[in-house]
Amino acid sequence: VPIETIRKEIAGLITGTAMSAKDISRAIGMKEKDVYEHLEHVAKSTARRGRFVVEPSECLDCGFVFTKRERLKTPSKCPVCRSEAITETRFLISEG
Ligand SMILES: [Zn+2]
Repeated sequence: VPIETIRKEIAGLITGTAMSAKDISRAIGMKEKDVYEHLEHVAKSTARRGRFVVEPSECLDCGFVFTKRERLKTPSKCPVCRSEAITETRFLISEG
């Protein structure tokens, strides 16, 4: 499958619907780790139009929100309380 087809498929999945890398990996049968790689490209190609939205992870124990993360991957640990109960980062292409 051509790489552009995969990226278009991912972009299609998250258009109007926020999904985590895990959701996407299940939907298209690809390793989560590989999904992140494609997401980076999807983010770049849609960023100019300001349509790629990252819904940040949040710590379920103290409520810390990971708003300033540069990497797309869901963080493993909260920097404030060290909890590992972190919601998955989700991605969305807004149609507006
Ligand atoms: Zn925390």
